[in-house]
Amino acid sequence: MPLPLRRELAGLTPYGAPQLDVSVRLNVNENPYPPSAAVVADIAADVAVAAAGLNRYPDRDFLALREDLAAYLLAESGVALAPAQLWAANGSNEVMLHLLQAFGGPGRTALSFAPTYSMYPEYARDTATTWLAGRRETDFTLDPDVAHATIAEVSPSVVLLASPNNPTGTALPLATIEAVLAAAAEVTGGCVVVVDEAYGEFRRAGVPSALELLDTYPLLAVSRTMSKAFGLAGARVGYLAAAPELIDALRIVRLPYHLSGVTQAVARAALRHAPELMAQVGSLRAERDECVAWLRARGLTVADSDANFALFGTFDDARAIWQGLLDRGVLIREVGPYGWLRVSIGTREEMAAFRAALVEVAAL
Ligand SMILES: *Cc1c(COP(=O)(O)O)cnc(C)c1O
Repeated sequence: MPLPLRRELAGLTPYGAPQLDVSVRLNVNENPYPPSAAVVADIAADVAVAAAGLNRYPDRDFLALREDLAAYLLAESGVALAPAQLWAANGSNEVMLHLLQAFGGPGRTALSFAPTYSMYPEYARDTATTWLAGRRETDFTLDPDVAHATIAEVSPSVVLLASPNNPTGTALPLATIEAVLAAAAEVTGGCVVVVDEAYGEFRRAGVPSALELLDTYPLLAVSRTMSKAFGLAGARVGYLAAAPELIDALRIVRLPYHLSGVTQAVARAALRHAPELMAQVGSLRAERDECVAWLRARGLTVADSDANFALFGTFDDARAIWQGLLDRGVLIREVGPYGWLRVSIGTREEMAAFRAALVEVAAL
């Protein structure tokens, strides 16, 4: 039976990192530490309250959650924002979809700089937005002059910058982000610059957040997520900070009541426990720095990482290394660029298992 599928979807398969049942799962940058019993109890109690009101639609504009998110960002980054400057959705991937629904679309272009997050082209495709990838340097930094020239040439409506970037882990200096913002300001018709800080909380000391630039640049949007540092990937809560006018545009395209009462309750309960949930961020950072140093000491090349993973290589046959690790019960990720592998930072025990397996498989 021929399906009347959009032509650009023909023959495609759904996104999916393998969800395999192995003992050491270091493939999708999750936080390895589950919420504590106290956090679980508090979330469960608030979900019970929300459940009692599930006959009603939830607060469409989730103002209480937006207030909580603003308070959290003030504590985390020292940047004061009004609740009207916050947005949230079911994961930052839905936040990105809202952005492209509002600012992308047919006849418009979204631009990023590769290698970067593999989902961006899919968000563009799903919103009928033209997708273009400029280039990063071989050390995965972004040359401000290259960025400027590419933006001038492409005239995008949206620029997506992941910082810290996935899969490389590299954070962009604020000066580079400002160079992109300056180039974007020259685009006829305007251009929204989205800085995806999904891994923001893992940045090394002294690495600033693009939140600090929001006051100066009205077309800047900074996205965050509760999936990584908060260890709440299963809750599906991502959020965004931007000017109130930009947030209002997202309210037009979101589906009504997109954030369920249960999700709002989970997110708010978790935010009350932010310091406790993120207690492990410090040890994950330390574990990351140790992992990077260890891989380098074994002669491998590792990208500088401000995230909870490390990109390392290069291997003639990265697939064989990946498979060898999997055969030893360690699941990591084979991502582009060619010859590289990405390992998420797990617990001390998980990282020891990873190192032991890699020594065998790669004969280090
Ligand atoms: C993991 C990740 C996200 C988070 O996605 P959620 O939908 O919030 O779970 C966003 N951006 C990048 C670059 C990521 O790696």
